[in-house]
Amino acid sequence: MTFTDRDRAVQAAVAEGLLGPDEPVAGLLDIVGIRRSARELRAVFEEFAAPDTPVLHAFAVKAASLVPVLRLLAQEGLGCEVASPGELALARAAGVPATATVLDSPAKTPAELREALALGIAVNADNRAELERIDALMASAPSSAPIGLRVNPQVGGGTIGAMSTATDTSKFGIALRDEGAHDWVVRSCLDRPWLTRLHAHVGSQGMPLELMAEGVRSLFDLAEEINDKAGRRQIDTLDIGGGLPVNFASDDMRPTYREYAELLRSTVPGLFSGRYGLVTEFGRSLLAKHGTVLARVEYAKTAGGRPIAITHAGAQVATRTVFVPDAWPIRVAAYDGAGLPKPGAPVAQDIAGPCCFAGDLVAENRSLPRLESGDHAALLDTGAYYFSTHFAYNSLPRPGIYGYAADPGGVRFATIRTPQTLEELTAESGGAHTNALHDLG
Ligand SMILES: *Cc1c(COP(=O)(O)O)cnc(C)c1O
Repeated sequence: MTFTDRDRAVQAAVAEGLLGPDEPVAGLLDIVGIRRSARELRAVFEEFAAPDTPVLHAFAVKAASLVPVLRLLAQEGLGCEVASPGELALARAAGVPATATVLDSPAKTPAELREALALGIAVNADNRAELERIDALMASAPSSAPIGLRVNPQVGGGTIGAMSTATDTSKFGIALRDEGAHDWVVRSCLDRPWLTRLHAHVGSQGMPLELMAEGVRSLFDLAEEINDKAGRRQIDTLDIGGGLPVNFASDDMRPTYREYAELLRSTVPGLFSGRYGLVTEFGRSLLAKHGTVLARVEYAKTAGGRPIAITHAGAQVATRTVFVPDAWPIRVAAYDGAGLPKPGAPVAQDIAGPCCFAGDLVAENRSLPRLESGDHAALLDTGAYYFSTHFAYNSLPRPGIYGYAADPGGVRFATIRTPQTLEELTAESGGAHTNALHDLG
């Protein structure tokens, strides 16, 4: 049996006590793998884009909102795409400079806009009213921050409705094919010399690559038209969003950044010509394959004849998988009490979490060596949007997260996030206001 780096990390995590009876769930991130993905992304765009094309890969912070991870990516030359004051605070804590930060979000407040413009952070306006707010801010305090407009090319949705941002009625950006919208965008740009970017993110997991490329083509064509009418290169940067889907069915990393770049080059030949600087906003594809949720099996039981493993990983760390299992199936691997891959004939079983509702299952009727009390269940490909996106159900604490490097000599760990203590959890739950309701009503 060959051991993967993940297998070695699981075994070492158990041996070192990163999880155990008192810390029954933890997140693990393969740091070498993350670096490899970041380098691959940069290398592909460097190869495809004309020499000296400015390219910023702004990691979508919501995919892994963890300061040391943002720092690691910054070390690899990536920036951050942020969509809330919290995400901006994390990027700043990670030392990501304003020039490598992009602010998106459909609900930016005046204070957020003012701060971003003052800091020189690139801002993509989502809608007409937001553009008017920016007009007012620019009139009172001109900023040299790059400002763009998000458009929705309305090229259609993918297999997951909630992830599809280019449907006719998506809440994001200016719906380009709506009556009059296209002309309004062109005119709005011509009226505002400081509007120099166009942005589109047509969706995340479940989008066909062809639709993503078609969205980028709309963006490119629009920029060409605006620049034609302006008689100058007013739009100088295209922000093509993220959304490269991830394969959750095996260890294969497909599609690759190279495959996507090849498709972009054939669909939008001018994209890499050097006429436009480029911004990307990949999230899931950089992190997902490099993360594992590892949980102890507390009990094994049966109900209605079906074996059920009650583990400590459920909706709090695998929220989407638990609530929308058909859209977000993940692989589960069985390990024994020592963290070694569990041998044995596969048995169909449910892998349940600790939450008190019946649907708290990360896998249903899944064939695996039969899990028993004291074993471990590993949720694979969970490096993005899983343990970093905690759901506070049942007041379950946020688990610890550890980065690992599996060297020939052994596995080394570094703490990315310490497990939340019960004191912290109590404080988060109004613990400072115990008596606040005594005399009220
Ligand atoms: C979520 C999001 C991304 C990242 O999407 P991934 O599927 O994680 O690559 C990029 N840009 C915007 C505007 C987003 O909302």
